Amino acid sequence: MVCETILKEESTAFICESCKKDLKRYGRGFFRAAELPYIDGLFAAFNYIDGIETAIHAFKFKNQPRLSETIGGLLSEELSKYGVLPGFDYIVPVPMHPRKKRQRGYNQSELIARQLGEFLNMEVRTDILKKTRYTRPQSKLKRNDRLHNLEGAFSVSPDVFVEGKRILLVDDVLTTGTTINTCAKILKDKGVNMIYGIVIAIAEK
Ligand SMILES: [Zn+2]
Repeated sequence: MVCETILKEESTAFICESCKKDLKRYGRGFFRAAELPYIDGLFAAFNYIDGIETAIHAFKFKNQPRLSETIGGLLSEELSKYGVLPGFDYIVPVPMHPRKKRQRGYNQSELIARQLGEFLNMEVRTDILKKTRYTRPQSKLKRNDRLHNLEGAFSVSPDVFVEGKRILLVDDVLTTGTTINTCAKILKDKGVNMIYGIVIAIAEK
């Protein structure tokens, strides 16, 4: 996956032990980030550089949905180093606009959420949060434009009951955090009690 080592046929991960060891771990448990006021705790497994950047890029843009198993496994392994999680009612992936999901064939955050759901034995809900407006990728925008790009882009399904629930929100890469913070805000507007965010990696701003 990173160094092109030919892995053993029975290996479950697409990464060799040496590359895995070299990944830049973010190295802390859930923390509060001042710039993400609607997120009660944030966890990132890695810095978005080197091997993990290569892996996530392939996972998102090179039609390799099966990388979710390796990446989800790495994320779960990092998460397990930091003790007990608060109880969550649901795991919710950051949604993708249906048109974009059709183009890509899958929502990478949803696949990671499913891996986490298995690992944590928690229910994954994709019916709660919807991407209702097609937007340009946040990564292609300047900081100021990122804030406005997502205005009104997400919504909570009218027929779900989320009052008082505790939710773990899953995204792939966090840059400014506008995406998960925006999602968390509209969920809290509907009465969600607590929202933690988890991402595979954090990119330098
Ligand atoms: Zn390697």
